[in-house]
Amino acid sequence: MKLQDKTCVVTGGSRGIGRAIAEDLGEEGANVVVNYRSSEREAYDVAEAIDEGPGSAVPVQADVSNMDEVRAMYDVVDDVYGGADVLVNNAGMTRDGKFESMTREDWEQVMEVNLGGVFNCTKTFFDDICEADGGRLVNISSVVGQQGNYGQANYATTKSGLFGFTRTIALEMASSGSTANCVAPGFVKTDMLETVPDRVKEKILDRIPLSRFATTDDVAGIVRFVAGPDSSYMTGQILAVNGGMEW
Ligand code: NAP
Repeated sequence: MKLQDKTCVVTGGSRGIGRAIAEDLGEEGANVVVNYRSSEREAYDVAEAIDEGPGSAVPVQADVSNMDEVRAMYDVVDDVYGGADVLVNNAGMTRDGKFESMTREDWEQVMEVNLGGVFNCTKTFFDDICEADGGRLVNISSVVGQQGNYGQANYATTKSGLFGFTRTIALEMASSGSTANCVAPGFVKTDMLETVPDRVKEKILDRIPLSRFATTDDVAGIVRFVAGPDSSYMTGQILAVNGGMEW
């Protein structure tokens, strides 16, 4: 129970990677805030599953790209658990297309959620994380931020942006003893990957030395380590969880 009595906020905890992270942190005894934007039923299911184990959970609706909603989420976290120790910035979206057909709206929407959401949540929970004993910021980036990817100029830009953000916050947090790190998954079997055409998925698979896509648990296990006490001397790092892809 390495996260007993720690409160962990997981943005986009209703589905996919975020769901696995939320459930895994719950297994370590954490109080988990399961944030979601629209998948209410799924978020309540995740919270219920966590409550059945050693942890506890509360589902909280907030669009991370909206600062007012993130502040309202903070108030709930403060009321229920008295603040947060760990923030996992996991919520993310894609709006893919070749650059020549990408619109300004496609660009801005992905920036607003993938970077704007990280700004809003980190800003709101920053003091709590710095004041916590074992405070942790974990940003979910992507191998696409390291390599680029055809049709994902907007998404790749946001995921690369997290590297500079994380390193800087790591420096600014260091005097408090809290840490900030990035986890950069490769291609993971979630709804997000389902939007990729099969022929593209086959090509991607050829580039993965371990010859399989990641499961959500592959990522959650690394996040558990980064969020927990065993990583206390590691900060400003990028942990690649990509089956051995080069970057
Ligand atoms: P997913 O299955 O599409 O799930 C996305 C999650 O983010 C959902 O819980 C969704 O909540 C939430 N979300 C989206 N926009 C939001 C917003 N504005 N405010 C609050 N929550 C929001 O995605 P995933 O594959 O699990 O990806 C999770 C993270 O891992 C993302 O940051 C993604 O970029 C990153 N990643 C994914 C892969 C991959 O291959 N799947 C690889 C590398 C990195 P609702 O359903 O409630 O809207």
